[in-house]
Amino acid sequence: MSTLVQEIAKRRTFGIISHPDAGKTTLTEKLLLFGGAIQMAGAVKSRKTALHATSDWMAVERERGISVSTSVMKFHYRDFEINLLDTPGHQDFSEDTYRVLTAVDSALMVIDSGKGVETQTRKLMEVCRMRNTPIITFVNKLDRDGLEPLALLEDIEDKLQIECAPLSWPIGMGKGFKGVYDLRQRQIALFTPSRDTRPEDCVVLRDLASPELDRLVGADAAARLRDDVALLQGAANPFDFDEYRRAGQTPVFFGSAINNFGVRELLDAFVELAPPPGPRATLTRTVAPEEEAFTGFTFKIQANMDPAHRDRIAFFRICSGKFTRGMKVMHHRLGKEIGLGNVTVFMAQERSNVDEAWPGDIIGIHNHGTIKIGDTFTDREPLKFTGIPNFAPEHFRRVVLNNPLGIKKLQKGLLQMAEEGAVQVFRPLVGNDYILGAVGILQFEITMARLKDEYGVEAGSEPLNFGLARWVECEDPKVLAEFEKKNQFNLAYDAEGRLSYLAEGEWRLAHTQELFPDVVFLKTRESA
Ligand code: GDP
Repeated sequence: MSTLVQEIAKRRTFGIISHPDAGKTTLTEKLLLFGGAIQMAGAVKSRKTALHATSDWMAVERERGISVSTSVMKFHYRDFEINLLDTPGHQDFSEDTYRVLTAVDSALMVIDSGKGVETQTRKLMEVCRMRNTPIITFVNKLDRDGLEPLALLEDIEDKLQIECAPLSWPIGMGKGFKGVYDLRQRQIALFTPSRDTRPEDCVVLRDLASPELDRLVGADAAARLRDDVALLQGAANPFDFDEYRRAGQTPVFFGSAINNFGVRELLDAFVELAPPPGPRATLTRTVAPEEEAFTGFTFKIQANMDPAHRDRIAFFRICSGKFTRGMKVMHHRLGKEIGLGNVTVFMAQERSNVDEAWPGDIIGIHNHGTIKIGDTFTDREPLKFTGIPNFAPEHFRRVVLNNPLGIKKLQKGLLQMAEEGAVQVFRPLVGNDYILGAVGILQFEITMARLKDEYGVEAGSEPLNFGLARWVECEDPKVLAEFEKKNQFNLAYDAEGRLSYLAEGEWRLAHTQELFPDVVFLKTRESA
């Protein structure tokens, strides 16, 4: 087997999808600890506390150093090389959160057992569905009273339209939480608060009818488990590996991240089940990771690492071939060759092989604004990876310029930030406004602060009454003209000149769609 094939086989690149407070940070830390990445685990926490304290731009700025190191967390576990890509939540929830999911091969979904499926999880799930990303589910906080496990599975199936296949089953919950029963290995892991399960905490129990069960967890919990498992045998979906890989089914685990309970089992299942880097679509053909020729794409840009240098880091996912420091690649949008010298290779604790990287790995390319989201680099062949779109914004603001003479600088700044994916910029058909669109509201604060710091533009912003945007397509020019005439106050061009429809809410969109059935409204748009 070639080194390339071996390196691909041991890689797992994934992101965590969850609603704020479900336990993503806690779980991330425990996963990193299993991987021996102790320093990183500390960084995840400190970043979060800082962002919690204030949404102030300067605080964000101060955290930049840490936020780059936690953007991609790489660790070893068993024989695997794992890349965990951060999906920012809380105040720093933004389009980046969505876009990171276009660069992963699978996802872990964390659900709070007390709350079930929440809004942000639903949104992130939609993005996973676009690429049929396989998902493993971890139901967290079993040490607290929550919803019944069966009700939780129903909730997931209902709200997320994905089949659930429980691979473990909780024994009690809250104060009565005794542990989990591994439905495949048929063994019980007994729960002790704040302690990873040790071999002696695991009891193989082939026959649940055995009185041993009553001795281990008490008669009530034992009876309950017997009932549950009998019920599951009739009602639950058996785990189907292919269906998981096709993203039609999610295996479900139960545990308590804060107590490090059920996390090792989750991680073991993850490395065994989750897919290694797979083929990726381009406009012209599908690229297999095993191809020797280097290819990849940019999915995120982080600006202003060092204000003195206008430095930017492009986060680049390798799709095929091997990266070696200093190699030359084709930057197809610009039609020129660039050298990959000044590159951060995100790596594990061991500082070996830092000058090479493989499919599934992420490298950070330092640049001064020459790289856009979606840019593809290859070693020669002209290709453009697809599936790294812009996502429809949900929050809108009108830019108010304090000094009208700043208009040129404003234009330049907004265009650059739109290209970086920091914010979306719209020009209405009627009037001279600039409208900003974002997925998370902190994006506005950052845009305004950057306009001032980097482009010398003093501007404010005011809220607008829009709640959604859709990109518009229509094959019939006559219908389109009529549509534009009737909806001119709701139409705008985005930074790449694409027609967009802005509406107050879903009801308005539905109404317009009824009036213009031949107009197509799109929630995502591929970059040019
Ligand atoms: P995030 O917002 O999804 O990153 O969530 P955090 O990891 O910060 O967790 C949110 C809160 O839930 C914190 O106060 C955690 O200590 C707490 N938490 C996380 N996991 C558990 C758990 O297994 N049990 C309990 N009781 N609390 C937990």
